[in-house]
Amino acid sequence: MRFTVEAVPRKEQYGINKLHKRLRRLTGSAISDFNMIEDGDRVMVCLSGGKDSYALLDILCNLQAHAPLNFELFAVNLDQKQPGFPAHVLPEYLTNIGIRFRIVEQDTYSIVKRIIPEGKTTCSLCSRLRRGALYRIASEIGATKIALGHHRDDILETLFLNLFYGGKLKAMAPKLVSDDGQHIVIRPLSYCKEKDLALYAEAANFPIIPCNLCGSQKNLQRQAIKEMMQQWDKKYPGRLETMFTGLQNVEPSHLADPVLYDFQKLKARGRPAINGDKAFDYETYESEQQSLNTVNC
Ligand code: SF4
Repeated sequence: MRFTVEAVPRKEQYGINKLHKRLRRLTGSAISDFNMIEDGDRVMVCLSGGKDSYALLDILCNLQAHAPLNFELFAVNLDQKQPGFPAHVLPEYLTNIGIRFRIVEQDTYSIVKRIIPEGKTTCSLCSRLRRGALYRIASEIGATKIALGHHRDDILETLFLNLFYGGKLKAMAPKLVSDDGQHIVIRPLSYCKEKDLALYAEAANFPIIPCNLCGSQKNLQRQAIKEMMQQWDKKYPGRLETMFTGLQNVEPSHLADPVLYDFQKLKARGRPAINGDKAFDYETYESEQQSLNTVNC
């Protein structure tokens, strides 16, 4: 990590080091839990210039230096020709840290502007074009994995977006096969909180490129969900952690998807279940009930 250490007081530096260690540990755990990176991999790290992608690259570089595995990192930025994009920033940064990289220029901005009527949100076409370009570059450079900078909060936001507006219980996978079927996409920051990454980016003084250069309106639904989660985080500390744990602890028999769970063939066992159906047992909710009572007082 490249902090301007001299300028940071000792106590603060201690906090930064702890944060760095935590992010590295969480990223390492996600990589290991989902077998994201294997020996001999060439990992294409997609770098947008935002805080999350800088943090991703920085943490991966750090892990690479200490990992028992041998893997390569290759940073890629797609210059989408948004007006005012500071094209010198990323090449300078990447040259400075000594990592292999490629900047690919592709004017998706003009395509999006031409196709999407004024005032409509452009993000979905823009992301689709970007995704296609990144897959093409991954093939050209022989990448075996494509790493994206999405974090825990992106995953939870997507869960609620799908639940509220899409009628689906679906979040964002830490590891998946790309839509074109050719690549493995990984999200090594899946266990990291956005606010930790923001602090990390600030401490590391990454040369952030603003994400609103295209002039597109933010996705208002995602924004509303982000605010809802931020309020929960303030009012009920630990709730977001619990929700993410829930994503790793799914009980298909207690949902209502007959494709996921074969309710048709369900038969009485004739003996008590060891763990039973504790869904509505008092003790499961006791602590939550207590905290609700405290809030209501
Ligand atoms: S904010 Fe702009 S650059 Fe980002 S996805 Fe939306 S349209 Fe594309």
